[in-house]
Formats: sequence, C-alpha cells, structure tokens
Amino acid sequence: MSDCIFCKIVAGEIPSNKVAENEHALAFHDINPEQPVHILVVPKRHFTDVADLSLNDTAAVAQLMNFAAQVATENTNGHFRLQFNTGEQAGQTVFHVHGHILSRHAKEASA
Ligand code: AMP
Repeated sequence: MSDCIFCKIVAGEIPSNKVAENEHALAFHDINPEQPVHILVVPKRHFTDVADLSLNDTAAVAQLMNFAAQVATENTNGHFRLQFNTGEQAGQTVFHVHGHILSRHAKEASA
C-alpha cells in the first residue's frame, strides 16, 4: 500500500534498524522501545491487522509465527511476549499487521 509506513520500510524507502529478514517477513527494532528488547515482525505483504492476515492467508500466519519465534529465540533469553494490537481501541497505530516481541532480557552474548 502506497501510504503505509511499514510497506515503505519493507521496500527500503524508509530506513529501519533491521534485525532479520527472510523471503516473507522482516524484523526491525521498534523506534520507541517499551522494553529492553522490542522488535517488530511484519509480513512483507500488506495486511491490515492479525485478523485480516489470519482470515485471508493461513500460510502467511504460519510463516510469520515461525519467523517471530526464530527472531525471539535469537534475541531474547527465551522469555518474551508476542503481541498483536488489533484495532484503534486496542492501541493499534500502524495498520500493517505487526507482532511486537517484548522482553526484559536480551540474549546474552556468547563468549
Ligand atoms: P501499534 O501501536 O501496535 O500499532 O505499534 C506500532 C509500533 O510501531 C509502535 O510501537 C511504534 O513505536 C512503532 N513504529 C512506528 N514507526 C516506526 C518506524 N519508522 N520504525 C520503527 N518502529 C516504528
């Protein structure tokens, strides 16, 4: 979608602090982190929210969840929340589906 900020990040038209990427999805650091680890995972295709995604493309749900689990495992100590705000009244401000990976503990660097 031409006026979608996360579509522009996916397209490289707006910079992001990228964490990981695969064929289907992108992970980048939230610009306004609420916890020591705050990463957003987004499918590259535009869906409005997690309901739109889940009702229209179950394969894309599986791909996004698998990607989110990998990103969370690689960037936290294994204790995290994966949150999809859905709808304005639930706090959604960007209407391109995104999961928030939130954790108090980043993965410790291995020696
Ligand atoms: P939500 O309120 O669930 O829609 O979450 C939107 C999130 O996107 C917020 O946590 C914002 O801080 C974050 N955000 C907005 N613009 C950017 C951006 N350009 N780069 C990274 N994160 C962003």
